[in-house]
Formats: sequence, structure tokens, C-alpha cells
Amino acid sequence: MTTEYGEPVGLAAILRDITLLKELEQMKTDFVNTVSHDLKSPIMAIAMTAELLMKAMPAPGGERAYRERCERILRSAKNMTELVTDLLDLGKIEAGLEGAGEPVDLVPLIADVVKALAAPAEGKHIAVGIEGPPAAAVRGVRARLQQVLTNLIGNSIKYTRDGGRVRATVETPEATEGPVRIRPVRIRPVRIRVTDNGIGIPARDLPHVFDKFYRVANHATAGISGTGLGLAITRSIVEAHAGRIGVESTEGTGSTFWVELPGAAPG
Ligand code: ADP
Repeated sequence: MTTEYGEPVGLAAILRDITLLKELEQMKTDFVNTVSHDLKSPIMAIAMTAELLMKAMPAPGGERAYRERCERILRSAKNMTELVTDLLDLGKIEAGLEGAGEPVDLVPLIADVVKALAAPAEGKHIAVGIEGPPAAAVRGVRARLQQVLTNLIGNSIKYTRDGGRVRATVETPEATEGPVRIRPVRIRPVRIRVTDNGIGIPARDLPHVFDKFYRVANHATAGISGTGLGLAITRSIVEAHAGRIGVESTEGTGSTFWVELPGAAPG
């Protein structure tokens, strides 16, 4: 190509692959849409109930209705707080700013978690059993490992009907390394299994339960509230500890969530 004076002219183009940027943009949009949708209904419930309360100060005999409306406000505010807390947690965990951790013995930690969940378990007459060796150490952030156990055992209680059973098992199986021992002390991985005989998860939902905001929507889960972020948080924590997580489940029969973490010498 030349100009009208006969000088040669070049053409330069800068091409950038923006697929990743587009994907990130889409993820951000999905995220904002879901959050605004999930916050909208509790906020509306709060506003409407407050309006009703203003109109109907308790007349003699109207205390019960008044109390129920106050409870509705509290429930909505609680759901919103849970969602915001989960979102903040997920952000922190994904940013990975929590240090190298310390040796944590999972056996007493599970006992603490089960004790802390005694109220919802007893409320549904669900027996929670623990089975494991005397000690099973991993290296990690104690509060986050506690969150993993609380989410898994808490879900088992939440998604199991009255009178059901939940069992948390810890195993330290033989490491499946080759015959050559590299370390002077063999450090075994730690496997945790949380099993329940609850409502189970339909096969079509099973591959998605660790996704952010995914909740199984059917007659068995109707009336059970949640954010759909618990298992996404749990998976992020496990992966931040170089571990793996999985689930086996049969609808109507029960579920087993398992976690495998690299072992550590007890500190
Ligand atoms: P949620 O806040 O809804 O409990 P989670 O991320 O913890 O969110 O779990 C995602 C979904 O996986 C739940 O909504 C529920 O449908 C299903 N789920 C999780 N744990 C169990 C379980 N032990 N038994 C049956 N369903 C479960």
C-alpha cells in the first residue's frame, strides 16, 4: 500500500485474546445477579413486616400476631447475615491469605464440633456418632478445618429427618506410596467421612452441590433454608489445604461426604 505521493505505508494491528476477560466478566455478572436476587426477598420481607408492625401496634389480644411479625423480621435478618458472612468468608478463603497453619488433631476437633451441634441434633432426635483412632494430625488453619467439619456434620443434621443417624469417621489409611521410604517417619493422609441416612441427593444434582449458590430444589428440601455457599466454602478450604473432597449419595437413602487431607506429624 502506498500514499498518493508514492510512499510505502504499513499497517499494524494488535490482537488480544479476551476470552478469559469475557469469562471473568460473565462470572461477575452471574455473581451479582444471584446475590441481588437472594438479598432482595429477605429485604422485602423485612420492609413489609415492619410496615405491618407500624400499622398494627398490639391491641389487647393482638400480642401473638405482633410477636410472629417480629419473629419474621428476625428470621429474614438472620438469613441475610448468613449470606453476607458466607460471601465474605468465600472471598477471604479464595484470596488465600491465611498463612501456613499449624498441626491440628482432627479427633478432638470433631468431638468439639459435634458438641457445638448438639442443640439442632437433639432437636431432631438425631444421634451423631464419632469413630476414629486416638489421634489424626493434619497441618492447617484450625478455625477453617473446624468450619469444614461444622458444614459437613451440620448439613447431615439439616438434611436428615427426625430420628435419623449421622456418623463422622476418621481414618489414617496406609499411605499408598511405593516401597521406597523417603521420610524417616511415615506420615499418613487423613480421611474423614460424614455419613447420614437422610434425604440424599438426586443423581442429576450430585455433580453441582459444590458449586456456589447451588441448592437442590425438590419436595424433600422444601422449607429448609440455606445460602448454597456452605459446600463451596468447604471445598475451597479443603483445596487450600492441598486436600480432596467428594460425595456419594442416593436419593431417599442418605449421603456420605468424604475429605482427604495430607497428614502431619503431631506438633
Ligand atoms: P445450603 O446452604 O443450601 O445447605 P450447601 O452448599 O451446604 O448449601 O449445600 C448445597 C446443597 O447440597 C444443599 O442445598 C442440599 O440440597 C445439598 N446437601 C448438602 N449436604 C447434604 C446432605 N448431607 N444430604 C442431602 N443433601 C445435602
